[in-house]
Amino acid sequence: MNDSYLNFVNSPFGARLARSLGLPKPEVLRRYRADRPEFDGMVAIGAGREPHLLDTLATLVTSIGVTSVAHGSAGLWVPLANRHGLMTGRFEAAEAGSPGKLTALLFDASGIEDSTQLEPLHGFFHDTLRSLGKCGRIIVLGRPPEACTTPRAWTAQRALEGLTRSLGKEARRGVTANLVYVAQGAEANTEATLRFFLSPRSAYVSGQVVRIGSAGGTRLPAFDWQQPLAGRRAVVTGAARGIGASIASVLAAEGAHVIGIDIPSAREALESTMQQLNGTALAFDIAAPEAPAHIAAALDELGVDIVVHNAGITKDKTIAKMTDAAWQNVIDINLGAQERIDDALLAGGILRDGGRIVAVSSISGIAGNLGQTNYATSKAGVIGRVQSMAPHLHARGITINAVAPGFIETQMTAKIPLAIREAGRRMNSMSQGGQPVDVAQTIAWLAHPGSAGVSGQIVRVCGQSLIGA
Ligand code: NAD
Repeated sequence: MNDSYLNFVNSPFGARLARSLGLPKPEVLRRYRADRPEFDGMVAIGAGREPHLLDTLATLVTSIGVTSVAHGSAGLWVPLANRHGLMTGRFEAAEAGSPGKLTALLFDASGIEDSTQLEPLHGFFHDTLRSLGKCGRIIVLGRPPEACTTPRAWTAQRALEGLTRSLGKEARRGVTANLVYVAQGAEANTEATLRFFLSPRSAYVSGQVVRIGSAGGTRLPAFDWQQPLAGRRAVVTGAARGIGASIASVLAAEGAHVIGIDIPSAREALESTMQQLNGTALAFDIAAPEAPAHIAAALDELGVDIVVHNAGITKDKTIAKMTDAAWQNVIDINLGAQERIDDALLAGGILRDGGRIVAVSSISGIAGNLGQTNYATSKAGVIGRVQSMAPHLHARGITINAVAPGFIETQMTAKIPLAIREAGRRMNSMSQGGQPVDVAQTIAWLAHPGSAGVSGQIVRVCGQSLIGA
C-alpha cells in the first residue's frame, strides 16, 4: 500500500505547503539496505553512577566500527569510561545542540539504585537530544527491576520505562527510543539486540522494553554477522504474500533455507515467492486437522531451526453480529494451529535444540479493538503462549517470542475503511504505517543465533502506536 500523504509532504511543494499550514510531516524512515553501511557516524555515551555495562558498550562500538564520544556532564565517569577503552573524544557543551551531529545516544543506567540518582539521565538527554540526527537511535540500558534486591533499586530501574517512552514521543523525525534490561550475568548475550536497535532494521520499533536473560541449552553456535542464519532452516506460515513473504525474503537474505507454507489456493504465489528465494513451498491449510502431522512429516528428515507463525486472518464484526463460524475460524487459524504445529514439531524433536519460535500477535491483542473480539482473543492468546512456554523451552536453548505489529501497509489493512485506516497510520510517533519489512527484520533479530538470551518477550512493531500503549 502507498501512503500518498507521506509521499506528498516529502515532495518540495508538499513540504512547503505542510510547513505553511502547520501539518504534520512524517519522516521518510531510513531502512536497512545491503548496499549502504548499516552503522555509521558518532554515538554519544552517557552513564549514571557505577555503570556495569560499559565493557558491553565498548565491545559493541568496536564491533560495529562507529566513533563514540563521552558526554561531559557525567563528569566523574569519563575517566572510568576511558579505562574501558570506550571513548575517542568528549562531547563538549559547545557541540551540544549542533543538529545531526550524532547518530545514536546510549545511556548506561544499570548502576542506578535509587530515585535520587536519576538526574544524570536528565543531564545527558537535555544536552544531546537536539544533536541527534534524523532517524537517530536512543537506547537506555538498565537492570531488570524485578531482579533488583531492594525496593528503591526496583523503583529507580522501573522509572526508566517512563523516560524512554517519553523520549520516543518527543524526539520525532524518525528517531526511535528503546529500553534494554540486561540481567546480571547476561552481558555476553546483548550484542545482537543492541545491533538491532541501533540499526536501520529497527526503523518502526520504538518505545519498547526488552529483557535479556541467560541463554539456555548447552552451547552458543558460532555465526557470521553478515549471514547469521547460514545453514539454518526456517519455516514461515502464510508466506505467499504480505508480511509472510517479506519474512521469508529477509530470513533468506540472512542465509536461511526457507520453507514457506500457505493455503492451497495461494499455491501459485507461494511457489513464485519460494522460487525467487531458492526455498521450498508447502501448500497446506495450517488449520486442517491433519496439517501438523503433514508439516512434521515434510520437515522430519532435515529438521528445522526457526518456526515463524505468521499466517493469520480477520473476520471482523461486533460480537452480537459475529457468527459462530467467524469466531471459531479466527481462533483456530490464528491461535489453535500454532499450538498444534508446535506440539508436533517439539514432540518429534523436529525443532532442534537452540531453535527459535517467533509468533505474530497484534496490538489488537494488547489493546482490544472494536469489531475484533475473535481476532484480539486469538492474538492475546498468542502472547499467553509465548509467556507460558518460554520457561519450559529454556533448558533446550529454544527461545519463543512474539512480535505485535501495529498498522502495517498490507492487503489486510487495505481492506480497512479509509477514515479508520488514516487514523491507524497517523496515531503513532512516526505518523505513518509500517512496512512488512519492519516486521520481518524484527523477526530476523529474534531468530538470530545471538538472541539466545531473549525469550518470552512481546515486541511491538508499531512506531510507538498510541493504541494499547
Ligand atoms: P495477509 O492477509 O496479507 O497474509 C496472510 C497470509 O496468511 C496469506 O498469504 C494467507 O493465504 C495466509 N493464510 C491465511 N490462512 C491460512 C491458513 N489457514 N493456512 C495457511 N496460510 C494461511 O496478512 P498480513 O497483513 O501479511 O498479516 C500477516 C500476519 O500479521 C497475520 O497474523 C496478521 O494477523 C498479523 N498482523 C498484521 C497487521 C497489519 O497491519 N497488516 C497488524 C497486526 C498483525
